[in-house]
Amino acid sequence: MRKLKQTIGKILIVILLIISYQKVINYIEKENIPQKTTIEENQNLNNYPFQIHFIDVGEADCILINNNNQYALIDAGNNEDGNKLVTYFKSIGIEKFQYVIGTHAHEDHIGGMDNIIRNFEIMHFYMPKVEVNMKTYQEIREELKKKNILYETPKIDSTFTLSNTTIKVLSIGDDKEDINSTSIVLKVTYQNTNYLLMADATNDVEQKILNKNIKSDLIKIGHHGSNHSSSATFLNKVKPKYAIISVGTPNDYGFPKKVTLDKLERIGANILRTDELGTIIASSDGNNIYFNYLKTDTNYIEK
Ligand SMILES: [Zn+2]
Repeated sequence: MRKLKQTIGKILIVILLIISYQKVINYIEKENIPQKTTIEENQNLNNYPFQIHFIDVGEADCILINNNNQYALIDAGNNEDGNKLVTYFKSIGIEKFQYVIGTHAHEDHIGGMDNIIRNFEIMHFYMPKVEVNMKTYQEIREELKKKNILYETPKIDSTFTLSNTTIKVLSIGDDKEDINSTSIVLKVTYQNTNYLLMADATNDVEQKILNKNIKSDLIKIGHHGSNHSSSATFLNKVKPKYAIISVGTPNDYGFPKKVTLDKLERIGANILRTDELGTIIASSDGNNIYFNYLKTDTNYIEK
């Protein structure tokens, strides 16, 4: 009888422990729902010496970094966007790029690159070491040769400097069978602010860089919001306040995928999309990030 009482007592204690444990977990989970940061607007575009432009090129990528009027260009939209991008960059006074980076050999990233090479002075040109039998890619090689610009392939963990900004290569691949996975992934640091630019990197790339210092205030999410990028584990480590999606809708792939948008919502990230906002400009004083949106004529639309 005594034994039975003891056993019942033990069982009751275990049940009580389970209930209180669950209560604590619920409490922690409630407390951990991240609060969204308010999006603050930059009152005057010339206020800050550091800016990243996520240029509206439809279903494609084109990112411009400006620090103290030194410029880096990451991707150059679709083929048809090339001339429009040249006009846009000239209109904001750009003559020279310190760095031009083609993240990987897909048309929606390097389409307008031949126009860029023809029209601007370029100090360094970077792309993955994957030879592709594609007209757009071959045009780039030809234009570079004509202007005596080297085709350079940066190494993983190498860094380069743009005025007071550091740009670090977190990933670059060479698998010809999976061009998206060759994407040059960059972490940009300006004083106390960090920006992670994923190009079209896929889940396996995210897995490879998971243990690096990837925490960032802003992420340009991988592959236009595809469900093969932006894993929950990865996003939880990046913990971005702002998630940029470079996308043109409608598109053949249904990007950005709802599952990706849901994951971004769950981590409390503010989602900013080029199809909704046009060109998105993030400016920083080194501690905070401010935003502007411009309806730029940089996305070629057939009339
Ligand atoms: Zn792409």
